[in-house]
Amino acid sequence: MEVKINNSTLSLVEGDITKEETDAIVNAANSRLAGGGGVDGAIHHAGGPSIIEECRKIGGCPTGQAVITTAGNLRAKYVIHTVGPVYQGGTKGEATLLRSTHVESLKLASSKKLKSVAFPAISTGVYGYPVDEAAHIALTTVIDYLKEHADIELVSFVLFGRKTYEIFAEELRKIT
Ligand code: ADP
Repeated sequence: MEVKINNSTLSLVEGDITKEETDAIVNAANSRLAGGGGVDGAIHHAGGPSIIEECRKIGGCPTGQAVITTAGNLRAKYVIHTVGPVYQGGTKGEATLLRSTHVESLKLASSKKLKSVAFPAISTGVYGYPVDEAAHIALTTVIDYLKEHADIELVSFVLFGRKTYEIFAEELRKIT
C-alpha cells in the first residue's frame, strides 16, 4: 500500500527490514545499544560486527531518542538506532515517546541528507505496544513530518508478518 504526502511517498510493505535498500533502516534498539532479539538481532546478524562496534563507541541512547551508525554488510547505507518505550498500559507517556522515536529518526536522516528511510513497527514486539495504537502513532507522526520536510522522498514501514501489515494498512486507510 502506498500514499503520496505532497511529493513524498509513504509505503507499507510486508517483509524483512534487513533486506531493504533504502538509504537508512531504523532499528528498534534497547537503551544500551547492546543488540538483542527481534528486529535488533536480525539487523546485527545480517549487518555484521561493525555495527555493534559503532554502537559500543556511542555507548547508549535514551528512550525516545535516536543515534546513527553505518550499516556494515546491509544494503542500506546507515542504521538509525532508536529506543521505543516499553508499553505499560499507555499512561506512562508511551505515546509521546513513540512519536519521538519517529521524529528523532527522521531528523537524523534529514541531517545526513538521506532520501529514503525504512521503519519497523517500533515497540510492538517484546516492548508490548498494541499494534493498532502503535500504527496510528507511527503513521500520523511520519505523515506530519513529511508534510513539513520535503527532503525525505520515501518512508517505508517494513512489517514483519501479514497481521502487522494488515493492521498498519487499516490504520493508514482510516487516516488518509
Ligand atoms: P521492540 O523491543 O521495540 O518491541 P521487537 O524487535 O521485539 O522490538 O519488535 C518490533 C517489531 O519488529 C515487531 O513487529 C517484530 O515482529 C518486528 N520484526 C522482527 N524482526 C523483523 C525484521 N527482520 N524485519 C522487520 N520487522 C521485524
